[in-house]
Amino acid sequence: MSSTISCPKCLSQEYVKSGSIKGRQRYKCKSCNYYFSVQKLGKKINDYVVIKALQLYIEGISYREIERILGVSHVSVMNWVKTYKMQRPFGDSPVKTSHKVLGFHELQEFIAIKENMRNSGTIITAIEDQFLVTTWKGASIQDLKQMSLPTDKNTI
Ligand SMILES: [Zn+2]
Repeated sequence: MSSTISCPKCLSQEYVKSGSIKGRQRYKCKSCNYYFSVQKLGKKINDYVVIKALQLYIEGISYREIERILGVSHVSVMNWVKTYKMQRPFGDSPVKTSHKVLGFHELQEFIAIKENMRNSGTIITAIEDQFLVTTWKGASIQDLKQMSLPTDKNTI
């Protein structure tokens, strides 16, 4: 990590000086309007949350859904995506995905039902003690070719 100052809340590096508090320089984040002083920088958002948010973003989940799943502001997520220059691998894909958050037992039940797994792609992401299940139904071989995913039947 560089020594550049960034907002402890959203990691944006755009801030303005905003007076001082108890002799410490105080800053105001231009992205989320959070006030912070330099000493607070140690309290950064858990890297885990940032990484999870970016993973979910890449899997095609909307900012609002990420906010709901991880409990972080969608503004923060948008800033992280910008900061780390993340790009969704498939752009606007023709395949529609859906998501659900399941507990461990629900996940077992979900997988046990053959119908859920047939003719669909599935990514399971662990989030603390829950599981985010991303599925894309009815993806044809054609669709997957467009997305340049492996088209070997065994891997779908
Ligand atoms: Zn901020």
